[in-house]
Amino acid sequence: MGDPKGFMSTPRQEWPRRPVEERARDWDEVYVPGALLPIISKQADRCMDCGIPFCHDACPLGNLIPEWNDLVSREDWRAASERLHATNNFPEFTGRLCPAPCEAGCVLAINQPAVTIKNVECAIADRAWAEGFVPARPPERLSGKTVAVIGSGPTGLAAAQQLTRAGHTVAVFEKDDRIGGLMRYGIPEFKMEKRHLERRIEQMRAEGTKFRTSMTVGRDVGAAELRGRYDAVVVATGATAWRELPVPGRELNGIHQAMQYLPLANRVCEGDLEVSPLSAAGKHVVIVGGGDTGADCLGTAVREGAASVTQLDIYAQPGGERDEDTEPWPTYPKIYRLSAAHEEARDLRTAPAADADARLFAASTLHFTGDDSGRVRSLHLVEVDEMRRPVPGTGRALPADLVLLALGFSGPDQEDGLIGQLGLTLEARGTIARDDGFATNVPGVFAAGDAARGQSLIVWAIAEGRAVAAAVDRYLMGGSRLPAPVSPRDRPMRV
Ligand SMILES: Cc1cc2nc3c(=O)[nH]c(=O)nc-3n(C[C@H](O)[C@H](O)[C@H](O)COP(=O)(O)OP(=O)(O)OC[C@H]3O[C@@H](n4cnc5c(N)ncnc54)[C@H](O)[C@@H]3O)c2cc1C
Ligand code: SF4
Repeated sequence: MGDPKGFMSTPRQEWPRRPVEERARDWDEVYVPGALLPIISKQADRCMDCGIPFCHDACPLGNLIPEWNDLVSREDWRAASERLHATNNFPEFTGRLCPAPCEAGCVLAINQPAVTIKNVECAIADRAWAEGFVPARPPERLSGKTVAVIGSGPTGLAAAQQLTRAGHTVAVFEKDDRIGGLMRYGIPEFKMEKRHLERRIEQMRAEGTKFRTSMTVGRDVGAAELRGRYDAVVVATGATAWRELPVPGRELNGIHQAMQYLPLANRVCEGDLEVSPLSAAGKHVVIVGGGDTGADCLGTAVREGAASVTQLDIYAQPGGERDEDTEPWPTYPKIYRLSAAHEEARDLRTAPAADADARLFAASTLHFTGDDSGRVRSLHLVEVDEMRRPVPGTGRALPADLVLLALGFSGPDQEDGLIGQLGLTLEARGTIARDDGFATNVPGVFAAGDAARGQSLIVWAIAEGRAVAAAVDRYLMGGSRLPAPVSPRDRPMRV
């Protein structure tokens, strides 16, 4: 601990975001470039190095947070990078995208603002790349065993990197034309610039991982054939089967799923398209769904120049403080959070009729109405109580010529035939069934990440990727020294 009184003398300070008017006009990350490094050592000093660091348990990766806080406060960036990479393959991803359950579990957060753990993580990762502390680490010898990883999201990438470094010959099969899963086609550029992804992929290539893009397993290559060609298979295909909104008028033109809309905006940023065919420019946009995917649609629609954007949340507006009875420290509480996209919408007044920023809370969609050409023009909603019963007299209509459905995902997409061809058993909720060792019902086939856990977070995906790699290594070699930070039954901390 650099300064034992740091938590008393230094207030919490986060990586500042660029002014709303500036960042809403471009797709670059929302943060002020270069503004994190000058403040971060003092922020790391706020860590109390408490006896039992609950942040460890709250982070699914078990990141060694107090250790690297101490190293950053002493500006030993090389050692900090080593400690961070000991538990996290991709800290520049989590440092930007993680909702940081570790901060909710920080002991300082019992009565003060938590240490800015996520910012410290990001600073270490960025500094490590800038200083060349992240070289490729190819294996010293090969095992002679081969592994096919299906899916190149954070789960597949973490599994592939761990298995390659353990000496196995690994090929990653990806149905999209580029590597990255939802981090590539889903998460917008303003949350994480894709150059961070490219740099890791280059590192993995240099270590020996092979990538096969535009290859849908089940269609371009048979899943059973792949099982026959490789010693083990990891299914890390994500959970992209989206939930529907079966209300009258759903068939009208102009109503799309969030994951039909967001990847097109990603493709504009990649340079594949000049303009998105679903661009929100000049349109009244309503986003149905109050979660993070909806917030990503919001930030995207703002940047595309929507005439108005409103986000509907079926839940009541949460308070600003945790409820100590139902969600006590160190759990991750449901409180009112203002994401960068919500801040933009609030300051630019994109939804004048909203309860807060761009959001209308306790709002349930009843139906859509359209014009003579079959295009959506209005969304009709009603306020609901906590049992989701309509509150009489609260019906109203919002102008809507682009509606985006962001209602979550139910499990893996089954259209490609992979699950049927391998004969994989599913859980009742549609995810791939596996035992405590990540093994499916088919010998040599393992499942990890959103495909098996259900819709989750990048930090869980990386943790699952690391853990499934340990399981595969054990299956191939009879034992493994690879770390397994989570088991399939682990869940976020709750009361
Ligand atoms: C819009 C959006 C924003 C999000 N934002 C955040 C965030 O800010 N922070 C956070 O922590 N989490 C976020 N999440 C959740 C997070 O992205 C996921 O939990 C995570 O990506 C899951 O990783 P995965 O590797 O299991 O699956 P995915 O990332 O979904 O990757 C699965 C990959 O498998 C490929 N695939 C599927 N079937 C086949 C096949 N048959 N053959 C070959 N390839 C196949 C897919 O094309 C895809 O590339 C977000 C999710 C969405 C939808
Ligand atoms: S990965 Fe997420 S939970 Fe873990 S230390 Fe980083 S920000 Fe915290």
